[in-house]
Parts: sequence; C-alpha cells; structure tokens
Amino acid sequence: MSRSKLVVGNWKMNLNLAGARQLAQAIAGGLPSLLSARNGKVEAAACPAFVHLPAVAEVLRGSPVSWGAQNVYHQPDGAFTGEISTAMLTDLGCRYVILGHSERRLVLGEPDSEINRKLLASLAAGLIPIVCIGETLEQRESGQTWAVIESQLVGSLAGLTAELAGRLVLAYEPVWAIGTGKNATPGQAQEVHADLRKWLTSRYNHSLADSVRILYGGSVKPENAGELLAQVDIDGALVGGASLKAESFSAIVAAC
Ligand code: PEP
Repeated sequence: MSRSKLVVGNWKMNLNLAGARQLAQAIAGGLPSLLSARNGKVEAAACPAFVHLPAVAEVLRGSPVSWGAQNVYHQPDGAFTGEISTAMLTDLGCRYVILGHSERRLVLGEPDSEINRKLLASLAAGLIPIVCIGETLEQRESGQTWAVIESQLVGSLAGLTAELAGRLVLAYEPVWAIGTGKNATPGQAQEVHADLRKWLTSRYNHSLADSVRILYGGSVKPENAGELLAQVDIDGALVGGASLKAESFSAIVAAC
C-alpha cells in the first residue's frame, strides 16, 4: 500500500495574529507548486492557536494546504467555560485535530480516558484526529518505551471500531525529542513505527494497519527530515519549532 505523506505544523502557543496570518500567507504562497509536483502524494497542514484559526483559515481556504486545531473538547455544547467544541472547529473548516500531545498529557495532566473521549467526538464530527503517543527519556532508558506506548494506545483508542480507526493518524513523538533539538535516529523512530503497525495489525487487521498514516515528531528539521521520512513506516512529520518559519516547513515538505 502506498500511503500519502503528511506534514503537520504545530504552531503551539506562538505568534500573534499578524504573525500567524503572515506565516499562513508564506505557506500558501510557497507550498502549492511543491504539493502539486507530488501529485497528491503529499499533504501539508497548519495547526495554529484556536484564536488564530479564523485568520489562518481565511488565508489557506482554496489552497491545497489544510488546517487544524491543537486540541478540542468532547462535549458538543453547553456550560464548559473556556472549551472549544468539534462543531466550532468544523465550522472553521478544520480538517485535522491534534490530540494527546505530550504537552497536554504531561503539562496539563490530560489522561488517556480524556483523549479517548476527544477522539471519539472528533471522529463523529468528521475531523481527522492526529493522536500523539511517546515515551519520556526516563521511560526509554529504563526499557519501558513499548509498554508506555502500548498503554497510551489502549487507553486513547478504547472502543474504536476498525471503521473509525481507518480514519486515524498516529504521531510517535518521543517526549525527549520534542523541542530539544535532539531527534530520534531514523532507526529508533522506524523501530517504534513498525511496532505501532504491528499493534494495529493485531488489534484490527493487516490492511487497516497498512493504511494508517504514522507521523514522527520530535525536532524534525530540514537537515534530518529526508532520512527520517525515507523510513518505510514513517509517513510524515509533526513539526513544532521548524514549522514557525515558512522556509523550514516547506523544506520539510519538500523532503517527502
Ligand atoms: C511538536 O510540537 O509536536 C514537536 C515535535 O515539536 P518540535 O518539532 O519543536 O520538537
């Protein structure tokens, strides 16, 4: 199966409104020719802060670059002060939503059960969830990498039917590689990606496992993107720091 590649920019809590608009304009200016040269085999998306989504959507609408959010709440509406629903995201034309990013898990204390509720709500709303999983340095060094990831998968994907799982994107993001400048080696990343595909095969089936896109995230830069993206089970990248500059984001897309 030839899976299309996907490069997602996670702008996190960065930029002001003018900066977000400018970055979107630069991406919308530079990426279309690059994407069309790849005949639909490569997709790119930007995930700005919630408050910048309308401006970014306005710029990217009509371009081949998609957009999405960095989080969502599972309830459809109601008295949930400060939260954002799936319908609010689809209203803005969001295609993707990042769920379970390690910063949400570790800084904001989001458990797998909450990620699972968000995942089911996002799929029901027609959003494409990008579910992040990954181990800390301590967990890796004590040989717990796969145990941690498997438990995140079991918790986050609880109750997910094969039909819904087919619309999922996974992102392996070793916590020790996020924002540190220290990426996983292509071999380390490929090993986990292959295990993720094996897990999907045993949980669902081979053809589903073969079709799910699995992104790598953690200090992806133009200099290391080519080698990471050349790994057989790495289907793209979730990019933080390097997505804040149109040139480096485009160079990573070009490496696909
Ligand atoms: C991320 O934000 O998910 C990420 C991987 O960040 P960075 O590329 O800066 O390591």
